[in-house]
Amino acid sequence: MSDVAEGIGLEETRSLEARYLMRTYKRAPVDFVKGEGPLLWDAEGKRYLDFLTGISVCSVGHCHPEVVKAVREQAHQLMHVSNLFYTEPMAQLAQQLSESSLGGRVFFSNSGTEAIECAIKVARKHAHARGIDAPEIVSFAGDFHGRSYGALAATPGLAKNEALGPMLPGFRSVPHNDAAALREAVGAKTAAVLIEPIQGEAGIFPTSEEALLAAREACDEVGALLILDEIQTGVGRTGSLWAYEQTPVHPDVLTTAKALGGGVPIGACVTAPSCAEVLEPGDHGSTFAGGPVATAAALAVLSIVNDPVLLRHVRELGAYLREKLDSLDGVREARGRGLMVGAALEDGIDAKAIGADLLERGLVVNVPRPDTLRLLPPLVIDSDHVDQAVDLIGESLLGSPSS
Ligand code: PLP
Repeated sequence: MSDVAEGIGLEETRSLEARYLMRTYKRAPVDFVKGEGPLLWDAEGKRYLDFLTGISVCSVGHCHPEVVKAVREQAHQLMHVSNLFYTEPMAQLAQQLSESSLGGRVFFSNSGTEAIECAIKVARKHAHARGIDAPEIVSFAGDFHGRSYGALAATPGLAKNEALGPMLPGFRSVPHNDAAALREAVGAKTAAVLIEPIQGEAGIFPTSEEALLAAREACDEVGALLILDEIQTGVGRTGSLWAYEQTPVHPDVLTTAKALGGGVPIGACVTAPSCAEVLEPGDHGSTFAGGPVATAAALAVLSIVNDPVLLRHVRELGAYLREKLDSLDGVREARGRGLMVGAALEDGIDAKAIGADLLERGLVVNVPRPDTLRLLPPLVIDSDHVDQAVDLIGESLLGSPSS
């Protein structure tokens, strides 16, 4: 910690926030000032094991030396010129994303929600070309696709917030994993089915193979696009570069963000060749997107993550983590794939209180629903880190009121 400059401290930071920031977030009372690998330090010098990684962003660990080097070198050379010119890292990253997934074209964004906006535009324009006047996009209840108005409309739990209305029309949802309801909802007006392979924000609920197959078949029957939102599942999180690789289904469009930049904001919408030509000049754009620093960071991330040895490690360690969690008193079930894990707690245990207690004990997790802890550790941890985290969770559950 000696290399961290003296900061203003938690109390001063909180009072500035209370006065100047919009009240959109409820934050935990910690002011992080340094990260390295799976570890974080707060302003008081306390050390934490990070099993959240900024919600699956720092998947290669905090401040990975290769990512830091790429950012530093690129920042010294060229930081921004806009999308009016060619830049090499952008073209190289597009090639890697396309060749590692659907084989079509890529649009870069600065966030996940913007990657979804691009996917919605592709779907609507593709539908108009098929003669559909009022195209519809179908999602699952519980899906989370982002907070800009298009992504919001595709996020059933948030789209019902009438205070933010009117919502963008042309979106509908069916219960998660209800293959029959999905088949019924897809029809002549459908532009796309937009779903998560594993629902993340909802609390780690895998989408069943049956539902994924139903989505693929229903889209094929009517000529609609299947869009898989891999913003949380992608870039190695589940033990394959893309989660769909472990399913029988290939999408037409894939969105990614979060872990792609290793901590630097970047997202992407990747198409299959069949819909790669849909967007044309003037249809979409972004000043910052695909800039040299973000794309250089993402190239460094992919060179670490797109490695069969690391991906096998993620699958094996994820299975070990779920098995250990399942054996804890107080855990009802451990869900997920790879290192995207939800620990559902037994009835009567308040996951929020456990999450706060774990933070006190030096373990960072997240609580996406009242009965579930969400664990998204760095992909580069080892079994000792898993043992430490599960021991802390076990101790916390032992001390919980209803245990
Ligand atoms: N889609 C999924 C599956 C996500 O998990 C998220 C963020 O949690 C988003 C979209 C939105 O991404 P962002 O917050 O970068 O806009």
